[in-house]
Amino acid sequence: MFLISCPNCGPRDQTEFSCGGEAHIVRPAKPDDLSDADWADYLFMRTNTKGVHAERWVHSHGCRRWFNAIRHTATDQILAVYKIGEERPPIDHDPLPTPCGEPVVGSGDLPLVGTASAGGTAKTPSSEVK
Ligand SMILES: [Zn+2]
Repeated sequence: MFLISCPNCGPRDQTEFSCGGEAHIVRPAKPDDLSDADWADYLFMRTNTKGVHAERWVHSHGCRRWFNAIRHTATDQILAVYKIGEERPPIDHDPLPTPCGEPVVGSGDLPLVGTASAGGTAKTPSSEVK
């Protein structure tokens, strides 16, 4: 569990809220002009961010109002909350390390434990390719 600071009520337990998915999804201006694939993209395709992510939340067991929150998806830390219609506050970089201490969130470019630079004997993927 974690705390979310509702813009109307203040800090409350996360169990009082419901997540409404990714924020800032804009409805198409000319829906009649969209192909089926474009509609499917608008309706179903969302980012799957590991790191800083803007989401819509509703205080379902409180004021019942919707708002936006910027949450770090790996640590569940709420970095900012703001009302619907307000501009997203700038968060220029991923300020938080992940719980396991990865230096770059989601990079997939981590040194392997036991590589030559770490003083071990494990093989790196490039040494396995022939
Ligand atoms: Zn509220």
